[in-house]
Amino acid sequence: MLSSSTAPTVRVAFDTPAGRSVLEAARRAAGASADDVEVRAVGSPGTVHLPLVAVTRAGRTALHRSVDPNEAAALVSVLADGDVPVDGADEVVEHDESAGDFPVRDGPLSAGVRRTLAGAGWVDPTAVDVPTVDGTDALDALSSLGLRGRGWGDARQDDPVADAWRTARDADGDPVVVVNALDADPKVDGDRLLVGSLTGRVLAGATVAARAVGADDVVVALPEDEPVLAERVRAVGDALDETDGEAGPSVSVAVAEATYMTAEPTALLESLEGNDRIEARRRPPGPEAWGLFERPTLVHTPRTLAAVARAVTTPDDPDLDPEAADPGTRLVTVVGPDRRTVELPTDASLSRALAGEDASFACVGGQFGGLTRDLDTPASAPALRGAGLGTNGSMEAFVAGSGGACPVVVAGRRTRVAREQNCGRCVPCRTGSVRAHELLRDVYDGEFADDRLRELARTMARTSLCGFGRDAARPLATALEDFETDLRAHADGRCPAGVCDL
Ligand code: SF4
Repeated sequence: MLSSSTAPTVRVAFDTPAGRSVLEAARRAAGASADDVEVRAVGSPGTVHLPLVAVTRAGRTALHRSVDPNEAAALVSVLADGDVPVDGADEVVEHDESAGDFPVRDGPLSAGVRRTLAGAGWVDPTAVDVPTVDGTDALDALSSLGLRGRGWGDARQDDPVADAWRTARDADGDPVVVVNALDADPKVDGDRLLVGSLTGRVLAGATVAARAVGADDVVVALPEDEPVLAERVRAVGDALDETDGEAGPSVSVAVAEATYMTAEPTALLESLEGNDRIEARRRPPGPEAWGLFERPTLVHTPRTLAAVARAVTTPDDPDLDPEAADPGTRLVTVVGPDRRTVELPTDASLSRALAGEDASFACVGGQFGGLTRDLDTPASAPALRGAGLGTNGSMEAFVAGSGGACPVVVAGRRTRVAREQNCGRCVPCRTGSVRAHELLRDVYDGEFADDRLRELARTMARTSLCGFGRDAARPLATALEDFETDLRAHADGRCPAGVCDL
């Protein structure tokens, strides 16, 4: 539920203990002032430049990024004296006095269309508003809508969620819902953002999923050393115990290693079961039939669950169109100095996330995204896949040429990650990533084995056991497709971007 205030208000957006010390400093300063200043804890609106302090009086808000405790206390003092602290602000916006959502619509602090993200950075993250929908009705609605999973770490990734829900509901055993909040792709912030800023919305989606399959428990997998996120999850779990009239699921927090590989949904289950060697499991059967401790298990990311909550809460929103290939919106993390996560309708082009920033090429779709010069591809999963790009919700934009980036370096670094982080269980990924990395290095010695590289990328993509190997081939495959002239130039001893020492 969105909340608003017309009192002079300071919102401190944070998701770490360091941010909490800023909140406490603001509260001490407010307590020492004569004016009636409210200080609220919120999550990020989309930016990583936390703690972010939003100081509001009478429909005017000044935003200050990366604030320390002393600066926070000074901002509160200015507000208590009757002013809005605009000096040194990163942004100052005028808005409706009773605004229920983060009010910035342009620039580096904006976050796109703000539908799934509505309220992020402005409302209490732990506010709980569980839809009253019955589980069977929710499953039917999501099936008709064709809502797809969102993101690496979701057992449905880009596929419709309803099929897996039916399998879990009908399978033998006690179903369970696992929220994969490991936030394990270093290029993607969407899951962390949702768990930290709209914890209640994510767990409302998990509650809907639990009802649909008849699960009594929800396990939220978080990385180590995330006390603030864990605290918010537990607070929502406690609130769900009290508010969900039809005996809602119990919510627990489990800590798991957070690497790109260990976030693979079946690898996460291995980790949650306490196994020493973490590998992806063979499928079929998928986790929806044989998952955590052999129980039917839904594994979804916070991005998927927030989309579920929205789909059953506001089914008449125009972007939730059952005729669309990918109904709803997608979160896209724009990787760069003003790193932020924006929300795009799935028919909007990726370039909208850049808001005018320069880019001559980009890596789209996370750690194992695809390299492209075409940023007009729509943000929907089918469109991104059709263009050979990744769907894991990120875009790292590069400027080629002097002082910029080289696509051969980008592809090589990501192939090296595949080589270093794969679990070693299957040959196409284990051996393929090593050979692909070696052959890319050979390019710098004048040898460009293009046919062999293409064959390796194809084999990894088609025959790897899990999504890691299939996705890990993408930077190489797209470099060969769109940047072959750059590869040939390197083999001839020349880096067109002027980056590589040849
Ligand atoms: S594709 Fe890679 S990560 Fe997945 S099982 Fe095979 S070796 Fe492991």
